[in-house]
Amino acid sequence: MKKVLVLGAGQLARMMDLAGSPLNMDVKAFDVRTNKVVHPLAPELIYGDLTDGINNADVITAEFEHVAHDTLAQCEASGKLLPSSQAIKIGGDRRLEKALLENCQVANAKHVIIDSKADFDKAIAALNLPIIFKSALEGYDGKGQWRLKSAEQAEQIWQEMYDFIAQSQASVPQGIVAEQMVPFERELSLVGARSTTGEIAVYPLTENHHTNGILSVSLAAPVCQSLQTQAHKVFTKLTEKLDYVGILAIEFFQVGEQLLVNEIAPRVHNSGHWTQQGTDTCQFENHLRAICGLPLGNTELNRPTAMINIIGEDSVPTDVLATPSVTMHWYEKEKRAGRKMGHINISGNTQAELAQRLNAVAQLLDPKAFPEVAHFAAQYQENQN
Ligand code: ATP
Ligand code: MG
Repeated sequence: MKKVLVLGAGQLARMMDLAGSPLNMDVKAFDVRTNKVVHPLAPELIYGDLTDGINNADVITAEFEHVAHDTLAQCEASGKLLPSSQAIKIGGDRRLEKALLENCQVANAKHVIIDSKADFDKAIAALNLPIIFKSALEGYDGKGQWRLKSAEQAEQIWQEMYDFIAQSQASVPQGIVAEQMVPFERELSLVGARSTTGEIAVYPLTENHHTNGILSVSLAAPVCQSLQTQAHKVFTKLTEKLDYVGILAIEFFQVGEQLLVNEIAPRVHNSGHWTQQGTDTCQFENHLRAICGLPLGNTELNRPTAMINIIGEDSVPTDVLATPSVTMHWYEKEKRAGRKMGHINISGNTQAELAQRLNAVAQLLDPKAFPEVAHFAAQYQENQN
């Protein structure tokens, strides 16, 4: 039995445990808020502190990239951490991320790194409006971002960013990355695995829709082969450069036939949750296989599949389960506005069938809690007709 310690005790560790148990894996989670090792499905069960967790594990991995650097160092010193602390830190710092992309000559949005007011002014001169400013550290779900649409907003935005940076709790200096807003047609992501032997397996590109900066719907359906090949090449370049092991997610903007990388996530990713029903081997299982040195599982799309995120709600009408090929995945989290509480996966044998089921589910959901889902579902159905 392989023993895996996950840094972070949220829904991703939980789903790794659910995927790992048929493989006879023992998954524990390190809760960074309490500094205790817990059972991913029953956090009241405690298995000691980080040192105990490290000693008891065969492999250590992470479910999020904002892990304190001293924790990463302690794990890496054991020789059990996969992916490496370098890869995790890159995912948690947009400055390092941009440097990696430049280094690998991977296309991304034009950007400027900002450390001072002088850099801020330089960024405004160098990039065309609108510009998006992102905190280098601690950003997720659209938090720590400011959009500059007209020059008059500059002073106010600078002040807000300055205050945000001053409040940073991070162990390394906070900073800002200014990026050209990209007039993208679609947002896509590629989730893939690279194992300890260098084997690579990627899932089909996923189309993602965000609402208020948070992922609301992902859709996995056959995509154009040239985009898939482009994304696969980027995945191979980045993971080989980092000698990466585990699941890596790459978020892209599609502009015409070109993919620009938005950001990378050195972990299982929300836009890959559909793999639980759309493929033979979900991302959680493939992450565990990759870090435990097992052969990777099939990543082909079996059936067109969509995922709807449940955000800030702790219940949905149970009737959604009456629609064929719908599965619910709750995370057992306390209800809080804006919090990811669970997700719904929906499959169809054809895209038309998926579109019809997606609409049936969307009709049952409260439009206040799922503001754009019905619109997106209707649009998807229209594209089928
Ligand atoms: P998450 O970690 O949840 O994916 P995040 O907070 O790390 O999100 P980003 O993915 O960088 O932030 O940005 C959130 C969203 O803002 C993107 O999915 C995209 O819709 C929009 N966005 C970000 N950067 C740009 C850009 N340069 N041009 C246009 N839109 C952008
Ligand atoms: Mg993102």
